[in-house]
Amino acid sequence: MGLDVKSNSLEEFWIPFTDNRGFKKDPRLVVKAEGLYMTDHRGGQIIDGSSGLFCSPAGHCHPKIIEAVHQSMQQLTYVSPFGTGHGLSFALAEQVSRLTPDSMNKVFFVNSGSEAIDTALKIAMAYHTAKGENRHRFISRERAYHGVNIGGVSLSGLVNNRRAFPSVMPNVVFMRHTWTEDDLFTPGQRAGGADRAEDLQRAIDNFGAETIGAVFIEPVAGSTGTLPPPIGYLQRIREICDANDILLVFDDVICGFGRVGGKFSADAFGVVPDIMTMAKALTNGAIPMGAVVVRDEIYDVVTDKAAMGGIELFHGYTYSGHPAACAAGLASLAIYQEEGLFDRAKDMAPYFEQAVMSLSDHELVKDIRTIGMMAGVELYPHPKPGARGVLAQTEMFWKGMHVKFTGDNGILAPMYIAERAHIDEMITKFRATLDALP
Ligand code: PLP
Repeated sequence: MGLDVKSNSLEEFWIPFTDNRGFKKDPRLVVKAEGLYMTDHRGGQIIDGSSGLFCSPAGHCHPKIIEAVHQSMQQLTYVSPFGTGHGLSFALAEQVSRLTPDSMNKVFFVNSGSEAIDTALKIAMAYHTAKGENRHRFISRERAYHGVNIGGVSLSGLVNNRRAFPSVMPNVVFMRHTWTEDDLFTPGQRAGGADRAEDLQRAIDNFGAETIGAVFIEPVAGSTGTLPPPIGYLQRIREICDANDILLVFDDVICGFGRVGGKFSADAFGVVPDIMTMAKALTNGAIPMGAVVVRDEIYDVVTDKAAMGGIELFHGYTYSGHPAACAAGLASLAIYQEEGLFDRAKDMAPYFEQAVMSLSDHELVKDIRTIGMMAGVELYPHPKPGARGVLAQTEMFWKGMHVKFTGDNGILAPMYIAERAHIDEMITKFRATLDALP
């Protein structure tokens, strides 16, 4: 199959989250990748500063993942997950549950982060329904990103992601995000989070705890440009949830698998949720896959409520636990362990933080926030919000680096295999791009 842009039409593919008309005039295609680098269709070398979309911490085209998927597909290319099964899905669920907190051992497989969020919403609803409660309201936050399916869009605190889609779920209440002016150029977590968590108590006072099913939180808000939780924030949210029998959902789609300093946010911040979502690095980005992991009691309540011999949860996807995805997941988790990648990420984080913060003196930089192996570099908008971000992402690519921008926020998330020299290369290319921008 040719990847030569001159001989193939670019018109038919409706590209997601992209300026289609601009892109098709001046495409940026990747023809191959290995480790930290990609090769573009003109032959340029691109360092990947965002691990793809925060999904490939072990590097592109890891040979062990390719081999595991290849082997699995020689044996099985598909098995219906409804009423039949295969060993790889059980093996992966067991491995995932070893990484998650002790009380969370039930793993539901999906194909993306968006499906994980909608599945988490439905599991929360099924749990309360099984308990005979009518908790139909959900809590999210400003600047939250929880994927693009209708449940996730309903929870979206990024207004652009909701604007064209008026028929979202009603009954979602938004708390404030946690960033304040005091946070400008503050790496890591600032103090004083417990106060902001009182937003949840206010929602409860307004609407009644008995109407609220779950609170959805990205422990570090990722897509909006890296907003770490202020110290005490998640702890206080947990306390309020406990006092009111409200489920706490951590969306760990970006934060999971070592990105913010622990295996998952629960370890990084010392707060255990009731439900967690994950995707992306579950397979090192090699095959689409996500998962929802729940506290054992949630599984027990939902399954015990159903009559013996019948389906307990009327939910699932044709490709839940696809054999190739499970093979990629098992290989990825093995690589993370064998190569000690979560520890490597932790060890590299201080160097990365210092390197990113060195961009603070640039006149186009409005703010920088960092935690673990993730940072948001926010540019002053010019000439209107988001325009400079689009331009920066494009220019950076042609200067030899991929960084994902959301609005005017560039989100750096190096692979865990990065050496100091790679981090230096990223910062040099970032600065050179800024120097060239209007
Ligand atoms: N939740 C969070 C926190 C995310 O960052 C994302 C994607 O970036 C999603 C959900 C959606 O994941 P996907 O794009 O795999 O559907």
